[in-house]
Amino acid sequence: MRLAILSAILWIALSGVGPSPAAASEFSSCVANLKNAAVRSGVSPALANKALDVPEPSERVLRVSKVQPEFKTPIWDYLGFLVDEQRVEDGRAKMQEHDQVLRAAEQRFGVDRHVIAAVWGVETDYGRKIGRNFLPHALATLTCRGGRREEFWRRQLIAALKLVERGDLPLDDLYGSWAGAFGQTQFIPTTYESLAVDFDGDRRRDLVNSVPDALGSTANYLKRGGWRTGEPWMIEVKVPPGYRGPSGRENKAAISTWTQRGVVRADGVPLSGGGQAGLLLPAGPKGPAFLVFKNFDVIYSYNRAESYALAISHLADRLAGYPPFRTPWPTDDPGLSRAERLQLQKLLLANGYDIGEADGQIGPITRAAIAEAEKNLGMPQTGRAGRKIYSALGGS
Ligand code: CA
Repeated sequence: MRLAILSAILWIALSGVGPSPAAASEFSSCVANLKNAAVRSGVSPALANKALDVPEPSERVLRVSKVQPEFKTPIWDYLGFLVDEQRVEDGRAKMQEHDQVLRAAEQRFGVDRHVIAAVWGVETDYGRKIGRNFLPHALATLTCRGGRREEFWRRQLIAALKLVERGDLPLDDLYGSWAGAFGQTQFIPTTYESLAVDFDGDRRRDLVNSVPDALGSTANYLKRGGWRTGEPWMIEVKVPPGYRGPSGRENKAAISTWTQRGVVRADGVPLSGGGQAGLLLPAGPKGPAFLVFKNFDVIYSYNRAESYALAISHLADRLAGYPPFRTPWPTDDPGLSRAERLQLQKLLLANGYDIGEADGQIGPITRAAIAEAEKNLGMPQTGRAGRKIYSALGGS
């Protein structure tokens, strides 16, 4: 929290003191237009007025949407954070708790229940982190600031209000990411509108409060994305030393072709089965290697990033009882789990580095402190929350 406030102050300091009167009236008239557009789409004037009672743009949304990720996260940090032991344990407990629902969703949509649970775990930590931006405010801000995606944001805003108008969920529950994804599995409103299902039978599609609705809708999303029942999504493999052959998710070939190229399963079981697969080498030929199938592409379509699809696929495997990757990442400074990130911040504080409150979020202030600590310890300055600085500060 402290970090967020600090950066907000910094942002305000850098950008002057609030919007000019002209900008404010421009925003008001843009919001008025949005209200009219919503009403034309079938949203009641009362709801449009209540939802869009927003005199000023959301500064937080303006700030976050402009931030360029200046820090390139290595794949092992990304995976270390998203598929740590805590998320695996929590996921297994959640799967037990919602066993009936997950099996029902698997039955009805033909999508493996471990994958459904993994999406839930990666998107919101099983419903714990669903976002704190009021969607009408965030989406009005993004629409009215102008820019190339104005029409996209407007559609999301109107779709969100229509969900409320239809009675799927109350206006007060429209809280999510700055970019409009919300609910336990983070659908954007137009996706919600077209793919959400009522899976608990109360005739409302409530992806915020109803776990069955959220899990059923995720299964439906994957099913409609082309999920192939009973087929694998990803298999960890090993490539021959010095492999320079074809790779890439979209560069698919038959399993027998991969066998001819010298690719073997990492667990030693012979490669078999039909279907086309691509060879994913997320850290090059010396790191973990994976054959990825059509179902991996379906997972990929949820968020259009291979690292993301890899996280979901691996978490699904871990939830199903499979072990961590057999091939280590090609680094001597691996990533940290969420618990270790938090511990690293506590160690920084204990060593006199003022990073505010330890909250487990590695932002610019923590990274600056890490770089400072590295310098003081005579280590190369990376500013990265990795194993080396963690150990150097006494973490175990
Ligand atoms: Ca429902």
